[in-house]
Amino acid sequence: MPEEPCQCPDCQRFYREHDRLIRENPTLRQQQELNWAALQSFRTLAGRVMEELQKQQEASESAANATGPAPSVPGAGAVADQAGEQAGEPDAVQQAMADLENINAHLFSIEALMERIFDVRVPEEVEQKFREVAGELAPDPLNADRLRLNRLLHQTPDLPG
Ligand SMILES: [Zn+2]
Repeated sequence: MPEEPCQCPDCQRFYREHDRLIRENPTLRQQQELNWAALQSFRTLAGRVMEELQKQQEASESAANATGPAPSVPGAGAVADQAGEQAGEPDAVQQAMADLENINAHLFSIEALMERIFDVRVPEEVEQKFREVAGELAPDPLNADRLRLNRLLHQTPDLPG
């Protein structure tokens, strides 16, 4: 007996998303475009955020240098408190920057590998096979037959979950 796939909310959301991507991109060409766009948008966004954080850090560093050592005048305690509060953040931000840098390095490697995959073109009859299989793997959930089948399944008591 085949093992039942996990039905927790996270997995169900994943199955839905997975099936939607097949249904809406049922050819090799479309899968290539979809995955390339997903990879590029991830890289663009993460890279831009990293740049912004770097700028932010440089600005706050040069501001700290310009101010010099904190003068010991009345009220300096408040300034020191404020600086201490902000000092808690840069650690987390610095960690995030290192993590993002890692992610971008991995995405760059994946891109180099993916380029090969995306060079491939297949004849229309093979694309037609893709569409057929996509229809079997991820049928339209609003399809009348599918709705009827779902109703039948949900009427079955004590379905193993
Ligand atoms: Zn799960």
